[in-house]
Amino acid sequence: MTTLSFEFFPTKTDEGTEKLLKVRDELAEFNPEFFSVTYGAGGSTRDRTYAIVKSLQERGIAAAPHLSCVGDSTADLRDLLNEYKELGIKRIVALRGDLPSGSGLAGSELRYANELVEFIRKETGDHFTLEVAAYPEMHPQATNFERDLQNFANKVKAGADSAITQYFFNADSYFHFVERTQAMGIDIPIIPGIMPITNYSKLARFSDSCGAEIPRWIRKQLEAYGDNSDSIVKFGEEVITDMCRRLLDGGAPGLHFYTLNQSQSSLAVWKNLV
Ligand code: FAD
Repeated sequence: MTTLSFEFFPTKTDEGTEKLLKVRDELAEFNPEFFSVTYGAGGSTRDRTYAIVKSLQERGIAAAPHLSCVGDSTADLRDLLNEYKELGIKRIVALRGDLPSGSGLAGSELRYANELVEFIRKETGDHFTLEVAAYPEMHPQATNFERDLQNFANKVKAGADSAITQYFFNADSYFHFVERTQAMGIDIPIIPGIMPITNYSKLARFSDSCGAEIPRWIRKQLEAYGDNSDSIVKFGEEVITDMCRRLLDGGAPGLHFYTLNQSQSSLAVWKNLV
């Protein structure tokens, strides 16, 4: 069975939340397994993430909060885990997080995601299904691919049930990563994270910082479209649909869409696939 999930970020205003819940309703038509909500490292969106998670959970399809460990105390993390348990939350995306540049990890009680997974398991046993992050093109701070794979294996060993990848535009990087993990005896589902293409300059900036490569032929085509956003969106939907089809045909167990709080492109791609 192919699983489907959608990711949101917490909104800042009531108006934004109202819009987001409309987006949620449009996406709910496809009966996703869960909606996840990002978390600002160090607790910067703690209350807003909680509020959106609560609204989503109350609307009937499971919500999965992201939770990161850098810059948060274990006491705060414990409180939040208990609050989520009370809300009926059953799934968490467990991450290290990225503090603003220059902050470093020195003051953090938990410094890497495997330590957070271990902490959640110690505190809450098997209550939560735990998702962790995976990087088919290597995490940008990793010293090399082998180390990064080993660090990924440590998160699985600590108790992760499933993984969601950083986005990529090259299906082969995903297949290569999955093969390498399988060769290490890792058999948890690894769900491709899918980033719709809707705005070239924002995508280029973000991709630089998170280490996702935009292939030259995609970059050149997007550059050629300039400000023609209709053409960018149309081209993006075609490229992403083709990649998703390859991923699913090649055995990917599902898709997780980084929606950027918009429904149009994720929906268009999913409709092309089903
Ligand atoms: P880790 O698995 O801890 O890895 C981080 C780096 O440290 C890697 O380079 C790894 O190789 C290395 N490493 C791991 N263990 C060790 C060790 N013991 N010693 C030395 N090096 C080690 N960020 C947010 O702030 N909020 C979010 O909501 C959020 N959601 C995300 C969702 C997904 C699906 C993905 C893919 C990423 C998300 N991120 C989010 C970004 C993520 O927090 C960053 O990529 C962060 O830099 C790494 O997080 P991680 O959980 O992969 O960390």
